[in-house]
Amino acid sequence: MRTKILIVGAGPTGLMLACQLSRFNVDFQIIDKKSGTTTRSKALGVQARSMEIYDQLGLIDKAFAQGKIADGAWFFAKGKIAGQLPLGRFGQGLSPFPYLFILEQSKNEALLEGYLNENGRTVLWDTSFESYIEDDSGVHVSITDKEGHKVIHADYIVGADGAHSPVRKLSKIPFLGGTYEDLFLVADAKIEWNLPYDKLCVMMERDSFGAFFPMPEEKRVRIISIVPDELEESNASFDKIAAYLNDRLSVPMSFSDVKWFATYKVHYKYVSQFNKGRIFLCGDAAHIHSPAGGQGMNTGLQDATNLAWKFAAVCKNGLDAQLLKTYDTERQPNAVQLIKTTDRGFQLIGGNKRWQRFVRTKLLPLVAGRVFSSDRIRRRIFKRISQIEIHYRRSILSKGKLGGFVAGDRLPYFELSETMHSLMLTASPGFHILCWKIHDISTLKTIIENKAMLGHAKVHDLSSFPLTSKSLDSLGVKNSLFCMVRPDQHIGYVAATIKVKDIESYLSNY
Ligand SMILES: Cc1cc2nc3c(=O)[nH]c(=O)nc-3n(C[C@H](O)[C@H](O)[C@H](O)COP(=O)(O)OP(=O)(O)OC[C@H]3O[C@@H](n4cnc5c(N)ncnc54)[C@H](O)[C@@H]3O)c2cc1C
Repeated sequence: MRTKILIVGAGPTGLMLACQLSRFNVDFQIIDKKSGTTTRSKALGVQARSMEIYDQLGLIDKAFAQGKIADGAWFFAKGKIAGQLPLGRFGQGLSPFPYLFILEQSKNEALLEGYLNENGRTVLWDTSFESYIEDDSGVHVSITDKEGHKVIHADYIVGADGAHSPVRKLSKIPFLGGTYEDLFLVADAKIEWNLPYDKLCVMMERDSFGAFFPMPEEKRVRIISIVPDELEESNASFDKIAAYLNDRLSVPMSFSDVKWFATYKVHYKYVSQFNKGRIFLCGDAAHIHSPAGGQGMNTGLQDATNLAWKFAAVCKNGLDAQLLKTYDTERQPNAVQLIKTTDRGFQLIGGNKRWQRFVRTKLLPLVAGRVFSSDRIRRRIFKRISQIEIHYRRSILSKGKLGGFVAGDRLPYFELSETMHSLMLTASPGFHILCWKIHDISTLKTIIENKAMLGHAKVHDLSSFPLTSKSLDSLGVKNSLFCMVRPDQHIGYVAATIKVKDIESYLSNY
């Protein structure tokens, strides 16, 4: 079998990559050793940036039909409410989806597989990656399926094969970082308590913590906590854990109908490079970290979105394969940053150092009310958690800044009319050029059409929309705008006017 791109792993990351490649009409195969998508709930939080990508794929209504918006987060210190974060609207004006959306990983995977199937593509389930050999002609991959051993010849392999990634191990790309000492527990169970069922409740005690995430099913929560030393050795049953939670957490609660219970060590690791030769790593294969902030699955979806359009540009539009190197330079620094941020959050909630205990039980109750009621701080928190803040400003594919339009950033969300906004306008596959009060659009078209990869770029004259002036004014753009948006909706180039030489020099980076 021959293919351009072989994706190993059909978790959320591999499936997203497959969906995006199918959208760009690029030849690929996707294999997974399992028999189908996961049945476990695993990741629960779908961040705003992932929702925007689902919207681009036309999956948003299906997502809404199966999940729910997390209404808010309540933080307790020693049983007393210390602060409330209104998650239900805390990113108002920053995204069409200004909240945290709850949709189990199993449903995310089913959604993505459904998209593939509707587009005539299927995952090759029960098919295991075994090894590969790379040479000048491509990568020759040994796989095993129900019929036995086979070889797939591909131009590139993507390891989206999870934390234990065999692709990563064979490629010998170092996985740097470490493991937290504590043993953590995760469970899905029904809960009875006197607290609301649509809030994320985080309970911080002197020597323990418990996080309770609302799940779509009535009264069902995802529990995350630490397994105490005395239970660690004994392969503790959930009943013992439930007794421990009731003993250590100051809020009374009881559990029933436990669907899933596991204990695990949390790692914080990232690869030194996301790409080596014809091998690419995405998702948990490239970075793993604590569940603080619900980032893991979402980061994998964004890795895939960054890589897919570059594969399309190289494999379909004939651009130089050097473009693929920007996948590493754009995504690897994000993984390092993400691990730092989740580590800080995690240490604060679960850490056992004296200062950490002091912050969560003494300082937080004093400041949380004020911190969470500040609009400025809420917006900062939303931007960080929702992943809309992830940027590629230092990339060679980013050039220019005009008001709130910064090359490398995800295109700002702004309204154009009552029924149209910036992300909706730029949703279709390919590059989009936004022009406002730019007079020489015909020159622009010539420049664009001369470039193979921009051949299908869509040019939008924003003057035709009633709300453009007001929206751009609020983003600090007063006179005119020329903005080139990449297929992943990050800004590539931005300026106030068309400077042909400048644009041509920018495009030469492709
Ligand atoms: C309890 C828990 C809670 C979490 N909560 C959140 C959350 O709220 N938000 C969030 O964003 N993230 C969360 N995460 C993290 C999230 O689950 C992972 O980040 C996500 O699953 C990563 O997806 P992936 O596709 O990269 O890898 P995986 O989901 O691990 O998928 C890898 C796939 O590769 C396949 N594979 C492996 N080896 C081979 C092989 N040799 N051949 C073929 N196929 C192979 C596997 O079968 C698997 O299907 C949570 C994780 C856990 C455990």
